[in-house]
Amino acid sequence: MTDIIKLLPDHVANQIAAGEVVQRPASVVKELMENAIDAGATTVKLIVKDGGKALIQVVDDGMGMSETDARLSFERHATSKISSAQDLFNLHTKGFRGEALASIAAIAHVDMQTRTETNEVGVHIKIEGSKIVSQEVVATPQGTSISVKNLFFNIPARRNFLKSNQVELRHITDEFHRVALVHPNTEFHFYNNGSEIFNLPKGKPRQRIAHIFGSRMENRLVPVSEETEVVKISGFICKPEFAKKSRGEQFFFANDRFIKSPYLHHAVVAAFEGLIKPDTYPGYFIYLEVDPSSIDINIHPTKTEVKFDDENTLYAILRSTIKHSLGQFNVAPVLDFDHDPNLDTPYAYKEKGAVLPKVTVDATFNPFQERERKSGGSFQRASSKGWENLYEGLDQDVDTNNFSSVAIESDSEAQGTLYDDGVGEHMATTFQLRRKFVVSTVKSGMLVIHQNRAHERILFEKFLGEITVKEGVSQQLLFPLELTFNPQELGILREIKDSLTNIGFAFESLEEETVKLTGVPLMVPESGIGTVLDRLIADYAEGFNEGTVSQAEVLAKVLSKNLAVKTGELLDQESQLALVNNLFACKEPTLSPFQKLTYTIISEGDIDKKFS
Ligand code: ADP
Ligand code: MG
Repeated sequence: MTDIIKLLPDHVANQIAAGEVVQRPASVVKELMENAIDAGATTVKLIVKDGGKALIQVVDDGMGMSETDARLSFERHATSKISSAQDLFNLHTKGFRGEALASIAAIAHVDMQTRTETNEVGVHIKIEGSKIVSQEVVATPQGTSISVKNLFFNIPARRNFLKSNQVELRHITDEFHRVALVHPNTEFHFYNNGSEIFNLPKGKPRQRIAHIFGSRMENRLVPVSEETEVVKISGFICKPEFAKKSRGEQFFFANDRFIKSPYLHHAVVAAFEGLIKPDTYPGYFIYLEVDPSSIDINIHPTKTEVKFDDENTLYAILRSTIKHSLGQFNVAPVLDFDHDPNLDTPYAYKEKGAVLPKVTVDATFNPFQERERKSGGSFQRASSKGWENLYEGLDQDVDTNNFSSVAIESDSEAQGTLYDDGVGEHMATTFQLRRKFVVSTVKSGMLVIHQNRAHERILFEKFLGEITVKEGVSQQLLFPLELTFNPQELGILREIKDSLTNIGFAFESLEEETVKLTGVPLMVPESGIGTVLDRLIADYAEGFNEGTVSQAEVLAKVLSKNLAVKTGELLDQESQLALVNNLFACKEPTLSPFQKLTYTIISEGDIDKKFS
């Protein structure tokens, strides 16, 4: 047999290597920004277009490159940062593999201009798919500017795999934060499609955090500091009351490099034990400094996972340091753990007295005539007056002053299909079981509705309809409400603005940190708007990353989740009936928007069996 093994040509090897280094535009951003920092830049500009698919450019004022270095920098294993294996154990730079530029150049169109301090002119190199297509002398400021265009132009499968511009931009923003957070002494600018979304002047770490995550973050931070032989810890934790349901502001850095460490995350959470609710996460920005030889950052190609020599000790030190900070800054427990959160009144209803709901039910409803009426076309709504009479005297044990007595407004046509057995016994016989279920009788037996899930389904379809047909009713605010958001949150708000407008939100402008709100949807009380929007943004950011659902669907889900009545809420008679009617007026009544069963029917036969 003849020999069959061949050495791969360089450009093929580079393309393969690129698969490891460059997963998406954000990976390019990370590599280019890290190179800028390694080059000693004091100002770094990041410019992206279309989620990085059209352009990623990083401009720095660092040391620049000579003509030879500029050409060499695109070779594989070409690095100025290490020269022997020994150096691997004493790394002070971000890069060291000499792979990034070669990989990027293999799968994109790259344009580099660079000049060192001593050279009078710089060099301008263009590379496409690993081939240098032009090299010229150029007048350019000291430092380096690299533009990466048409990422994955020669790997269509990869390009197709990219997510929407918004999702890619979010990944880029994450990488930008990770670099910016460890270099508060470097100035950063970030432009997306021509507008500046971050302008981070030099400052202290605390100011950097506030510039990134919004000024309201500043007084949520509690400093953390400890120095031992093994590790030096600095940074901040967020006060327990700001723990969030969604993950997000959790950052570990080891020797100025962003790292992920589920183990150390656990140490932080353990320190917060008893101070935050079980399903919430504390925010933190923790900077660890260890002896470079005691950490192996080499085990993962994109280098966010690390291996510490003595993880157990690190865990213990970290946990006690954080506990100490929490104690020292008097962040005492504020939560009452005997309190059942299920019994909390959702903010949406706090200010809402238990008004008589505007239930529109056909008072003349006669189950015997159900089929006729349906075939008769449009459904006549009766005045609610007649309907109220049906219930006279029934609502006496409903405490109408009780905050947790919730009114569900019925705005859909009642449909009687479930009841058309001619018995009509459902009319006054809904009742609430353990503030969790609404029970009623139907022809085949007993109907048990999960109040929270059913209401989620109802609201989901309502909001989905409003977002798509733009018919949400807005309640104008007498005095515009001012709310502050950080730049990321603003970005998301801008992204979902149209949908929000469709359901009744009215914003004056979304350019500044402080946003003026002039109108809100009818069902959101003024006092709860801030919370609703906060959750909306957090949930939306999470939900949208999860799958390929449409924006309208994500929003409708988030809104329904946040506004639906919860388990533990008392529903008055009218609301119970409205819940039943509205649920069965839904297109898909059986499942909640989160694919959970909304109701079940326990058949007469099943009940009979119990008595046999
Ligand atoms: P690494 O960073 O691992 O060394 P890269 O492929 O990222 O590998 O870069 C290769 C080399 O190119 C670097 O070692 C550095 O000498 C040079 N280089 C890359 N980017 C810059 C920059 N922005 N300024 C100056 N030199 C740079
Ligand atoms: Mg590098």
